Amino acid sequence: MRGLEDGDGGGGGRGRSQLSRPERIVREIVSESVPVMAQIIQELTQEMLNSIKDYVKSLVSMADKKEEREELVTLQNRLNRRSDLTKESLLKCQRNQLEILVAVRMGLVSFMTGKLRLATTELIEMFLFVRCRNVNCKSILPVEDCDCKFCSADNGFCSSCMCAVCMKFDCASNTCSWVGCDVCSHWCHAACGVQKNLVRPGPSLKGPPGTSEIQFHCIACNHASEMFGFVKDVFTCCAKDWGFETLLKELDCVRKIFRGSDDFKGKELHTKADGLISKLESKLISPSDACHIILKFFNCKCDWVINFYLRHPLSILCENLFCRCPAHCSLVYFLS
Ligand SMILES: [Zn+2]
Ligand SMILES: [Zn+2]
Ligand SMILES: [Zn+2]
Ligand SMILES: [Zn+2]
Repeated sequence: MRGLEDGDGGGGGRGRSQLSRPERIVREIVSESVPVMAQIIQELTQEMLNSIKDYVKSLVSMADKKEEREELVTLQNRLNRRSDLTKESLLKCQRNQLEILVAVRMGLVSFMTGKLRLATTELIEMFLFVRCRNVNCKSILPVEDCDCKFCSADNGFCSSCMCAVCMKFDCASNTCSWVGCDVCSHWCHAACGVQKNLVRPGPSLKGPPGTSEIQFHCIACNHASEMFGFVKDVFTCCAKDWGFETLLKELDCVRKIFRGSDDFKGKELHTKADGLISKLESKLISPSDACHIILKFFNCKCDWVINFYLRHPLSILCENLFCRCPAHCSLVYFLS
């Protein structure tokens, strides 16, 4: 019997003799033929099955630690190299065996919690990357026949629920922490987008010629989506329901998204978010005050003033028009 340590890059660095029984069985499930392992697992006690599942859970949940990550990656590489794991052969798996195969390949343990019982065919489709691994999504892949390089990579990417940069998903909604493309609806974590420089200034889509704005540049279709209106919509519809922690997190997202702004509005928003975070953290204002201030900023009618200022930067009026506090823009009504 060929062990994982033979030619698989050393695995966790421990020899077979030091492995616990659950560790050894997981390696065998990943390496040995389906019918052989189905027979072996069938004969295990429930207690042993539980410790095997606990071991897989710990491997996945501690994948940020070096040894666990190396072991998980070695197991996944071994699975990726197997050509015998087809729909037909996987149908012969014992249920626990299948759950462990899927959990190892996906690096996810939601299939093994016992709380939600997925159909065997769904588990097999997830394993074969033709169904989304997110148990709250389970879309058939690729979603909407998209042929972008992410959807056609055949690696289980789901454009409805996953970040195209890190391939992770969560249940977050009504938040600025995920940014989407206006055209193809592919998503990306705001933090991943900032890190990969996909969130950056670009030529303003609706503003005066020559001006810029912060945009999300979609990696699936290259379209640039404007971000100011997006965060404004999220805050306008959801901020009133946020508590202290959520408000801080969302303001921090806004601060990250608009950090690189070249334009007046984006810079103002970045400054505003930064100031509100400091005031909230030092308890100088309440969340509801902070919420009120940012909503007032978003709903400020000073676009006209800003655009005028951008078009006539040397105008003698500019000192008045340079409305530093958009919450006080009676000047706009006066001028218009
Ligand atoms: Zn796509
Ligand atoms: Zn999905
Ligand atoms: Zn991400
Ligand atoms: Zn797109």
